[in-house]
Amino acid sequence: MATLTTHPDCVTVVSYRFGKGAAEIERYIQLGGYESARKALALGPDGIISEMKASNLRGRGGAGFPTGLKWSFVPKQSTKPKYVLVNGDESEPGTCKDRLIFEQDPHSVIEGTIIAALSVQAKMGFIYLRGEYRYLLQIAERAVAQAYTKGFLGKNIFGSGTDFDIVTQTGAGAYEVGEESALMESLEGKRGIPRIRPPFPAVVGLYGGPTIINNAETIATVPHIFRIGGAEYAKLGTERNGGTRLFCLSGHVERPGVYELPMGYNLKKMIYEVGGGIPNGKKLKAVVPGGASTPALTADEIDIGMDFDQVGKAGSMLGSGGVVVLDETTCMVEFALRTMKFYAHESCGWCIPCREGTDWLKKSLTRLHEGGAVDKDIDNIRYLAENMLGRTFCPLGDAAAMPTIAFVQKFRKEFEDHLEGRGCPYHRAPEPEPALV
Ligand code: SF4
Repeated sequence: MATLTTHPDCVTVVSYRFGKGAAEIERYIQLGGYESARKALALGPDGIISEMKASNLRGRGGAGFPTGLKWSFVPKQSTKPKYVLVNGDESEPGTCKDRLIFEQDPHSVIEGTIIAALSVQAKMGFIYLRGEYRYLLQIAERAVAQAYTKGFLGKNIFGSGTDFDIVTQTGAGAYEVGEESALMESLEGKRGIPRIRPPFPAVVGLYGGPTIINNAETIATVPHIFRIGGAEYAKLGTERNGGTRLFCLSGHVERPGVYELPMGYNLKKMIYEVGGGIPNGKKLKAVVPGGASTPALTADEIDIGMDFDQVGKAGSMLGSGGVVVLDETTCMVEFALRTMKFYAHESCGWCIPCREGTDWLKKSLTRLHEGGAVDKDIDNIRYLAENMLGRTFCPLGDAAAMPTIAFVQKFRKEFEDHLEGRGCPYHRAPEPEPALV
């Protein structure tokens, strides 16, 4: 079982019950569990949304949309059934924090789902787990069954006269269903490809009903907001980015791991102090700050706070919180190629710029990496990626294009060093194709 990694700068809000046996409901209750749901019941829908807005919580899945505002978009007067959908389809390379939440504290996801449901008077919730996280299904199902036994789910929850049920579900192993509309398609038993929007899920979502969809970390944070208060939670972060975040630090650092740190924590400090710096006295070359789809930052660009606004200003994105550190021995062409192989493999194929673009980028980067490319291939790679931007149905096309553009822009010299039959100056062997599953 994975555990949280700690450092004196770490805070314990979402991780408050980690390592304390809280997967068992009795222990979760001993640690104050399900009290937040009771508070939310007393506050009612408007009070819940006010508290969420006060917290300044922004979605932890990647887009960073304010959660309280998102919930407020669900039409109150709708006569259609409303739903809450927890996106546990954690598949962004470099990200492994939702897994930790389910392993260590599954009841926080259930309690957060209950609170979200109370805010819009939904009667049904779904917890959707990534296909590759099948082992988490048992943990989630067990926790859900325990919550039913205690009367926190089912008929008349907490003796309030309100009914609420939760169903668990896994995907079949597709990155694409991390996109919320593709997730709904998959949950409805269809092929997991995106829907054209608008309408947005808050109005027309799962089975045509208004739906709240949030990432698992976002939902797991909700009970803690009601535990410490929305305004107090907001103060832990920066002005427009409330609270804390589970950052997944990986790659060339001495102490990789999942750390809970305040929003806005300095990236350089995260690498050199929290993560212990680069092993073997090597120099830093680049950092991918928010999962594979976010543009890399160079070693000179990392003196920034890790919140949605500051990372955005630096030309990248906070994304899913997966911070990947690359030292001076990393071949950036190989890294770009690995990234593109992933996206080409995961493209659902629905729209041409993504389906064809990712495949051509993979071919071009392979040729460059193997030493068969000519000068104009570098500009062609960039041109191809730029022409994918904003021309696809879902963000996967942009997710493949944006890092590629940054790699070419920021590490052009390295791209040029691969030209004219020279091949990889780092002498990296080509990566095998990923197995099709
Ligand atoms: Fe599918 Fe890619 Fe188009 Fe998204 S961008 S719908 S993954 S083909």
